[in-house]
Amino acid sequence: MKKYIKKIWELYKPFRKALIFLFILTLISQMLFLVPPILYAKVVDSVISKEPLLKSLYFVIAVFVVGFLSKVVMNYIRNYTEIKWIHYDVDRYVYNKNISKILSFSVGQNTNENSGVKQSILNRGTNAMEQAMYKTLFDAVPIILQTVLSIIAMLIINIFLGLIVFFGVALYVSLVIYLNNKFKDDLKKIDDIYNKNNKEYTEILWNIATIKLNAQEEQSQKRYDNGILRLCNLGKKVWIRYSSWTLARGGIAEITEFIVMALGVWLVYKGAYTPGTLVIFWSWSSKAFNGLGRIGMMQRQYMRWGASIKKYLDLLEIEPDIREIENPVRIKKIKGEVEFKNVSFKYPFRKNKEDKDSSAGKRQNKKIKNENLPALKKINFKIKAGQKVAFVGESGAGKSTIAQLLIRAYDVSDGRVAIDGVDIKNLDLRCYREQVGVVPQDVGVFDRTLRENIIFGVGDQKKISIKQLEDVARLSCIHKFKHRLEHGYDTMIGEKGIRLSGGERQRVGIARALIKDPAILIFDEATSHLDTENEKMIHEAIDKVSEGRTTIIIAHRLSTIKNADKIFVIDKGKIVGEGSHQELMKDCKIYQNLVAHQSVDNGNL
Ligand code: ADP
Repeated sequence: MKKYIKKIWELYKPFRKALIFLFILTLISQMLFLVPPILYAKVVDSVISKEPLLKSLYFVIAVFVVGFLSKVVMNYIRNYTEIKWIHYDVDRYVYNKNISKILSFSVGQNTNENSGVKQSILNRGTNAMEQAMYKTLFDAVPIILQTVLSIIAMLIINIFLGLIVFFGVALYVSLVIYLNNKFKDDLKKIDDIYNKNNKEYTEILWNIATIKLNAQEEQSQKRYDNGILRLCNLGKKVWIRYSSWTLARGGIAEITEFIVMALGVWLVYKGAYTPGTLVIFWSWSSKAFNGLGRIGMMQRQYMRWGASIKKYLDLLEIEPDIREIENPVRIKKIKGEVEFKNVSFKYPFRKNKEDKDSSAGKRQNKKIKNENLPALKKINFKIKAGQKVAFVGESGAGKSTIAQLLIRAYDVSDGRVAIDGVDIKNLDLRCYREQVGVVPQDVGVFDRTLRENIIFGVGDQKKISIKQLEDVARLSCIHKFKHRLEHGYDTMIGEKGIRLSGGERQRVGIARALIKDPAILIFDEATSHLDTENEKMIHEAIDKVSEGRTTIIIAHRLSTIKNADKIFVIDKGKIVGEGSHQELMKDCKIYQNLVAHQSVDNGNL
């Protein structure tokens, strides 16, 4: 707990001054709140002792001035400070921190370690941090200060009465903490059902079409209502039991205030204090309990937020697993020579806490271990600059893994990958990736214009001329669907613009790779989802664009690779054959099998 508070304090370092200033303002305004009762006491005393009217009015004016200062002026300064130095700036700082954390992770970390979970941890954690911060600033701190200051003031005015209030408050707070612990399990159950119902609700919204197609409206509604009914039943039961304790809580506050007042009256009768002092006793002792009613709820909220905040802070500490060396090599113009030397690779083990903890997870452990076998074993090959090579093999053989290692999505487990003779680990990654074009199986499209989507990977986007854009559009056959684009390259595509078919997305992907004028072009199963016509079009595009650059084609379908200078056959993470189509047909059994299967499937090659 202490560790996490320290971490939060560290995280909010740029805002410490503003936060401390806010705390001081809150302290001052809470101190000012103690003053009016003193002035009221003076008014009462001066009225009782029939002092001149003006004297009493002076005190009334003083009450007004203090009230104005504490409520209006201090509130204004607090709001001003919060808006000017905290509200928007903290949001900007935290959201940027989140995005920069996600961006700092390697491709492998983002795809392999369940990025959805990371996003949810970041979202929930950020939300919880924000809510906890406002709760603390504007609710918890004022209440605590008010209580502490009221007790101190009471102790100063009369140590005996002060101690009574102190013990009353201590008893009250202990009872609240005791109750929260006693009902912890029940409240957690309510929380769990609540979350489950939310999930059910979202699932219905996401799957409306499926529900309707299967005529499951009534069942879905019933299932959802069952969840809510459970929540109602348990909620009523637990909260009625919980609420019965409010009698005890309220009782403690009222009895304490009663004792203080009774003793106060006695002290006034004894002549120890003026009658007006009763106003002070009454106000301060009730102020000590004011707001305490909310601390039970707050404690529960903090407990809930705490879980999200802990996960969030832990995530912020995860280091990227791919790091550049201190002075990386910047090859301004890569030639495109690629070498894999004795490369072995194992995907990092996916850490899944639920799997690890559950007994089902333990049972599955054997299976998980199997999934973690080496994806590549002692791979050796060399591709000359400008060569066009292909990797073929069954699905799961390790072809895409080679592409992943080539862009340093992961670091090799053993051996080395070299580009133009330089170990990829020593390269300036940004400079390198700017010169590599990758066309993946699924091309990601942003809700931006076609132009922005194409030039996405270019370092200096302003330098791209319309001629360059048109050239790559022609090469990647984008002109064939340009008639659909109302505003040409400025047409919005993606979710909010026109929807692109799989083939069209592929072509955007090719254009995106090409506009970088890359020294190395990688097509990772770029045609596997396409129909024959689209596939043909992409083949033509690949043939046209591969001129003069190292081109690596990863293909499941062999028709894609007919024109390659060299073909590598991959099987179970190993290279089992290399050469031209004719050579492989002669002496590579696995290649012959692949060809035989596909000839049957496709009727041709
Ligand atoms: P191919 O591209 O030839 O179909 P891959 O290179 O994608 O094959 O996969 C090679 C092996 O690595 C397979 O056994 C696959 O299950 C495994 N693999 C691929 N991606 C991951 C990953 N992100 N995490 C763990 N294992 C993976």
